[in-house]
Amino acid sequence: MVYFDNAATTRVKKEVVEAMLPIYTENFGNASSTYTTPGQNARRALTEARKTVAEAIGAEEREIYFTGCGTESDNWAIKGYAVKNKAKGNHIITTAVEHHAVLHTCQFLEKNGFEVTYLPVDDEGRVTAADVEAAIRPETILVTVMFANNEIGTINPIAEIGALCREKKIAFHTDAVQAAGAVPIDVKAMNIDMLSISGHKFHGPKGIGVLYVKKGIRLDNLMHGGAQESGRRAGTENIAGAVGLATALKLAVDSMEEKTAKIVAMRDKIIDTILAEIPYVRLNGPRENRLPNNVSICFRYIEGESLLLSLDMKGYVVSSGSACTSGSLDPSHVLLAIGLPHEIAHGSMRVSLSEENTMEEVDAFLAELGPIVKRLRNMSPLYEGVEK
Ligand SMILES: *Cc1c(COP(=O)(O)O)cnc(C)c1O
Repeated sequence: MVYFDNAATTRVKKEVVEAMLPIYTENFGNASSTYTTPGQNARRALTEARKTVAEAIGAEEREIYFTGCGTESDNWAIKGYAVKNKAKGNHIITTAVEHHAVLHTCQFLEKNGFEVTYLPVDDEGRVTAADVEAAIRPETILVTVMFANNEIGTINPIAEIGALCREKKIAFHTDAVQAAGAVPIDVKAMNIDMLSISGHKFHGPKGIGVLYVKKGIRLDNLMHGGAQESGRRAGTENIAGAVGLATALKLAVDSMEEKTAKIVAMRDKIIDTILAEIPYVRLNGPRENRLPNNVSICFRYIEGESLLLSLDMKGYVVSSGSACTSGSLDPSHVLLAIGLPHEIAHGSMRVSLSEENTMEEVDAFLAELGPIVKRLRNMSPLYEGVEK
């Protein structure tokens, strides 16, 4: 099996599992208990993990909160900030291409007295600081714009949007779940107030996330209960998860330069070969300012799902867009937002690479892809006549 779906989730690295194991078997204590050695060791491991995450994104240790996943981080940032600050205003700005963890949270707030502007994006999936500025109203309290898009790989001008929000004194949250470990992040230099991360997108474990909250930013709790995470996120800490996330993030950040060079070479080989050799295709998202590991292509006259199945039978795991929307017959909201008609959006394929992939896998994949596309098109009534 060749795994090309690393935007959906990744394999946990061996070093990460090794760092986590002693937390389950030896230092298994409850970090909140004061009297036992296992408890103290657990607490120390948690502190160390928090420090590692803080260093990886340019934050301070006390600004890092562990959560249950990227979805929880997004929910907490947006709901928690909106509810806590509603006396200041009820307007939120986001984009039409966010992950559902952000979009559905905003829709929930709309049912509860908030107003949300869903900014349209350009044909490469990008919003600019000027787009955000034009949507600001006196009652705007929060801007949430994703760092990088999970379907088409577009990287937004986060530092510019951060500078604008800081100047306008509006809180700025970014969903950095696809960006963390893949591109440099510096929350201070980029004027980010809140940032969401998820462990399983960079070879860490599932079920652990981080929300960075700049000191001084006030938000209501999402989870109520014990005093864990400085009283802001109740629930016995997932210390093994935190250690796993921190270990994986540090590995990803420390190896970013060499890893990126390798991944970009594979990505560009796939994009260039498909554009050169297969007719009636389009690249979704930009060539520049694109996630190193993302390829998103629409093939006209075929269904993305039948392409995925054919590739799967040859041993290649790719996706049609977002894992979270598969099973639904609607085309991706991201592909529609960049202006594609339904029939083109339906023919999408996302390949998302990791440093565990090789150029040999890429070459073998490309050798299979062309003939499969040709065969599927020849079976398609839509394609009849196109070639004549
Ligand atoms: C995967 C993903 C999420 C959700 O993270 P989970 O940890 O799976 O809940 C949120 N936003 C983006 C951009 C993602 O890619």
